[in-house]
Amino acid sequence: MSRLPKTVSDHCERFLGEHGVRVLCGQKVLSAHEVGESAFSKPELQELFVTSGGHEIKADICYLCTGVTPNSVFLTNGDSSLQRCVDNGYATVNPSLQLVDSDEEAFQDIFVAGDLTNTKEEKLAQTAEARANLVLENIRRSINKEPLKDYVAGSKPMVISLGDTHGLFCVACSFFARF
Ligand SMILES: Cc1cc2nc3c(=O)[nH]c(=O)nc-3n(C[C@H](O)[C@H](O)[C@H](O)COP(=O)(O)OP(=O)(O)OC[C@H]3O[C@@H](n4cnc5c(N)ncnc54)[C@H](O)[C@@H]3O)c2cc1C
Repeated sequence: MSRLPKTVSDHCERFLGEHGVRVLCGQKVLSAHEVGESAFSKPELQELFVTSGGHEIKADICYLCTGVTPNSVFLTNGDSSLQRCVDNGYATVNPSLQLVDSDEEAFQDIFVAGDLTNTKEEKLAQTAEARANLVLENIRRSINKEPLKDYVAGSKPMVISLGDTHGLFCVACSFFARF
């Protein structure tokens, strides 16, 4: 949400508030303890979550949505020279999407597309596809000894679901809500 215009998060927060959801921002869950039997998902246990803001939340069910972790272990395993191409778990690339090391030295024959790349663009299937197309084009150019093309990042449209019949369609800095 923080990467979208504030109007979007304000809208979602207002919508959730109107539907009885309490939103706690700017704090992390620090610990979870089993405290009893869950009312909804037996034999699961009810948990008590403690946040950095000092809140204690008892929950019968919990969805963990803290984001995904890229699987770059194959680059960092053992003595691989590719270890220096990983930054915070993401593969570092140049504008042509060639893998680069920490000195920005490019591996001419290794291209990376998709969520694994360390670029600032939103991690989306549409982005992965656009990047994969550029990688194909650059492999062709590389074989033909032509100059490589740079990837041009752009904002992509996104749909944010707010339940079965509500949602937001975000494009550039605008959004449309359907209620
Ligand atoms: C809940 C959710 C909802 C989403 N909704 C949307 C949406 O509405 N629109 C949208 O555009 N995007 C959406 N995305 C994002 C989209 O799914 C990703 O951006 C996209 O799948 C990235 O493609 P990818 O090929 O880079 O990675 P992935 O699709 O994750 O594919 C990576 C593949 O590599 C395999 N793999 C991992 N490690 C290894 C290894 N060592 N060796 C071989 N294979 C390996 C994995 O098994 C997997 O099959 C959503 C993501 C999530 C989690």
